[in-house]
Amino acid sequence: MTTNRVRKGVIRGRMAASGESYVVAARRMTVPRGSKAPDARTAAALATRYWEPAESLDLPCPCGGTCAPGERCTRCHATYRHAARIPGSDTDVELWQDRYDCTGCANTYSFTVSLPDRPWGAVQTVPQRGGREPIVRIKPFEGIGHPNLPA
Ligand SMILES: [Zn+2]
Ligand SMILES: [Zn+2]
Repeated sequence: MTTNRVRKGVIRGRMAASGESYVVAARRMTVPRGSKAPDARTAAALATRYWEPAESLDLPCPCGGTCAPGERCTRCHATYRHAARIPGSDTDVELWQDRYDCTGCANTYSFTVSLPDRPWGAVQTVPQRGGREPIVRIKPFEGIGHPNLPA
């Protein structure tokens, strides 16, 4: 059973999105009757999206995915660390944008990574009548907080 891990991931996602404490987020997470519980893919996406940056560069980055910290800042020569990850595209659910912050000054930079096994949303193909091209809809998973797309 992965239910407990999935649940914790969702709660953490809620905390990060809403600023609620763990207890409050857990209490408010009760799923209304008749609606489906968050699935494992949603939980994986939330875990990819919401985490606290590592306190020390000696520790593995908590993003759990491919990231490349360790660049040196050209201004202060301190090291950059992975600070945040958000959906990095409006059309490709596998693209995420990683932000790196300098640990010594306010310098920051971002770039896009592809995580094929960690999509931030689902792709739905809606068939059209009259032989027209089907419409492709991108739907971010619940709680993902896409910067451009509605939930
Ligand atoms: Zn990372
Ligand atoms: Zn710096």
